[in-house]
Amino acid sequence: METVDCLPPKAFRNRHRNSTETVTHILKKKGVRVTQNRVDLLDILNDAQHPLNQKDIEERLSVKPDRVTLYRNLRFFVDHKIIHKIEVNDSLTSYSLNRTFIEEEHSEEHLHFYCSVCHKVICMPQLSIKEYDLPEGFSQQSSKLIVNGICNICNEEKQEI
Ligand SMILES: [Zn+2]
Ligand SMILES: [Zn+2]
Repeated sequence: METVDCLPPKAFRNRHRNSTETVTHILKKKGVRVTQNRVDLLDILNDAQHPLNQKDIEERLSVKPDRVTLYRNLRFFVDHKIIHKIEVNDSLTSYSLNRTFIEEEHSEEHLHFYCSVCHKVICMPQLSIKEYDLPEGFSQQSSKLIVNGICNICNEEKQEI
């Protein structure tokens, strides 16, 4: 399902300029080179309401990207912790902007929800993944938690039928 942007052109332009400033700020803060490719890619992830997979990103880029370059840029961002890689299942990987740079309360390790109806991946920053009390001798590096189910929108649509 595509979401339609109903904002008037001026408001849209302002929002877009803010997004470009935000992502440029992130790149500078991370001390990596600011290139148009990187800004465009992060802009898309910043603008998205939910994590996107590689195909979603390709569709949103104004210039059709070369897949290898796109994949390399995504991996670069993951390595620099600028974006998160969410491995939903064997055939689906999504990416989202690491919003800890922009929103203080956004926890880095948080739960993700995968809707089996609309196949959307949704960030749940309000549900952070805790450090588990592991048995002696074990140390935690990271943990991924994906809850599979039906999202609120799909549940509402189901009730209407
Ligand atoms: Zn859904
Ligand atoms: Zn997330």
